[in-house]
Amino acid sequence: MKTRKLPKLLYADSQGNIFDHPYLTMAGMSGDEAVLPESVELIPLPEDSRLFTIPDTPPLAWDERQGSFVTVSRVKEGRRSIAVQAVSAFMAPGYMRTLLPACDYSKKKVHLPLWSYTAVGWDEERECFVVAATRVDDNENWLPKNYDDRKLDPLVRRMVADFPENRLIEQLSRCAVDYHCFAAKNLFFRRWEAPIPTSPVCNSRCLGCISLQPSDCCPSNHERIPFVPTPEEIVELMLPHLLEAPDPIVSYGQGCEGDPIMQADTVAEATRRLKAGSSRGTVNFNSNGSMPERVRMLCDAGMDSMRFSMNSVQEGFYNAYYRPKGYRFADVVESVKAAKQKGLFTMINYLVSPGVTDSPAEVEALLRFIEETGVDMLQMRNLSIDPDFYNQRMGVHGKGIGMYRLLEQVKKAFPRIQYGYFNRTRERFYPSGFETGWPVKS
Ligand code: SF4
Ligand code: SF4
Repeated sequence: MKTRKLPKLLYADSQGNIFDHPYLTMAGMSGDEAVLPESVELIPLPEDSRLFTIPDTPPLAWDERQGSFVTVSRVKEGRRSIAVQAVSAFMAPGYMRTLLPACDYSKKKVHLPLWSYTAVGWDEERECFVVAATRVDDNENWLPKNYDDRKLDPLVRRMVADFPENRLIEQLSRCAVDYHCFAAKNLFFRRWEAPIPTSPVCNSRCLGCISLQPSDCCPSNHERIPFVPTPEEIVELMLPHLLEAPDPIVSYGQGCEGDPIMQADTVAEATRRLKAGSSRGTVNFNSNGSMPERVRMLCDAGMDSMRFSMNSVQEGFYNAYYRPKGYRFADVVESVKAAKQKGLFTMINYLVSPGVTDSPAEVEALLRFIEETGVDMLQMRNLSIDPDFYNQRMGVHGKGIGMYRLLEQVKKAFPRIQYGYFNRTRERFYPSGFETGWPVKS
């Protein structure tokens, strides 16, 4: 069998022009350790992904001639030697990264903004960029090509005019137009999954919260909803969506508001009314799951599915990232169990990062967690945060077993576990052949 040559290192000059290196090989990083990607985890850069540079941070590469990893601070161009910086990919949704960009992060001078950073290289044989990643969801609804702002603007104006007294539509128009939130855009396109922001407050203080950065990371990029909508305001907008949209889902809590569990009474009342008004569609609740009693009450109100966010199934890592106020990790676990026991399709919004998520202790804890909770799906979401900052905060040293290997191990132990990236309509909770739904066939 012909063995594939390893991809070449990508680097950028100070102007951000990107080049492939003539002989150095692409590396990736698991935790704080440089590694060579396995061929199974190298896939062509998905369409709609982007490349960007990591400022003032030299890349690491594999030097075949020396048989070691090297820091590439400068590259010769003719007679000149130029300072170079690392290149990273930001992938289209639906793909889980398996390696971080390999860099000498000690040289980095700034906190990187809240994106997810993925190792990328240049494959000479295939003549394409390749990333260390695997596809975990085949839903293509969320691709940017489906969100044409020229079509959106008139729809936003019309719907805002239709509901002049509704504060929620005003908020959602800002989410769609100013923040370019695809979920909010879906409401105006009247299709697929639409969001229901409800909460200005949260009882977690996540290091990478995109709607609130009280401390030492980077500035948040969304302003939270400043009020709690009434059940009437919610139902007025969401009931027509459930009744008319193709593949309709309405979802509380999308991570850039506070947490909807803080507004459980409003959410429960709105849900009861939505369910009474439509037998069509899926009502989903995304949350930190910090209050199991409220989760039970919301299940009884008629929720179809719930997704609970966590960066880790180990209390130490969880606390270091979520910094919970007034609840414990055990409460989150109880919420997951409660939702499953109440018969809901139950998912984890698993905020993954190579080196943390695939560390041997996390893998072991994850297998126990799946067994104990009966959770249906792991949404493998690339945690959007400066990877070096995150690794330091988690106290990570060394590498994991490999993200691809992690997926293999979990699937082997629990064939019924589904991987994914997006919420599902209830008709697709358990699609036929779901036990063999990963690796996703492209
Ligand atoms: S709060 Fe965030 S997720 Fe929700 S609609 Fe607005 S921008 Fe989108
Ligand atoms: S749970 Fe969500 S809203 Fe709350 S701090 Fe974390 S990311 Fe932000």
